[in-house]
Amino acid sequence: CGIVGYIGPRQAQDVLISGLSKLEYRGYDSAGIAVHDGAQIEVKKKAGKLENLSTLLEGQPMGGSLGIGHTRWATHGLPNDTNAHPHATEDGRIVIIHNGIIENYLPLKEGLMSRGHEFKSETDSEVLAHLIEEAYAGNLEEAVRAALSQVRGAYGIVVTHVDHREIVAARTVSPLVMGVGEGEMFLASDVPALLAYTRNMVFLHDGDMVVLNDDGFRVMDLAGNPQERPVEHIEWDA
Ligand code: GLU
Repeated sequence: CGIVGYIGPRQAQDVLISGLSKLEYRGYDSAGIAVHDGAQIEVKKKAGKLENLSTLLEGQPMGGSLGIGHTRWATHGLPNDTNAHPHATEDGRIVIIHNGIIENYLPLKEGLMSRGHEFKSETDSEVLAHLIEEAYAGNLEEAVRAALSQVRGAYGIVVTHVDHREIVAARTVSPLVMGVGEGEMFLASDVPALLAYTRNMVFLHDGDMVVLNDDGFRVMDLAGNPQERPVEHIEWDA
């Protein structure tokens, strides 16, 4: 339902929670964030209100300056802690969040299970983490592209890998917008999540894929062809 991503000098946890709170009006049943601390990617997620997640984090804040966050509106699998996003591979090295529906997730899941992948959740989304893991050979962008070539449906997907200081995202149908800061980059499913941080936004088109790092971004289509997307200055208030 709601997506926020951050890479830059700030504590990612703060940006993610504040961004997700601005998307609460859309409705959701669970919330979660993943933060990369330079050595590993930690995931915390909780059914219910964002407040439940915030309470959990008060006791154990997550340090790190790269992160992704999600508020879920369940379509496949009950609204519980396990089915909340983010979803990680078994080894925890790849972490994804997903908005939308993967229509052909069942045959994909069966194939992945027959090849030894173990699933933790009942979501359609989790296949994305395993497909990316299977396709990964050192380049995250290429692995995401290979994984997405196998899925049908609607998605805003955001991906992190423990070995890379970058966020890879893509969209089909589901919206995604980037916020362009100085030495920092933001990502969200909707503008209000980012207005506290920047008014310089890039609206991604249907079928766009993007790689974000601390210094900027690159947009391409799902076949890897570079795309030009203007930075727009947002004057209005949410
Ligand atoms: N289909 C996914 C799920 O049920 C994503 C739902 C959403 O867009 O929040 O977990």
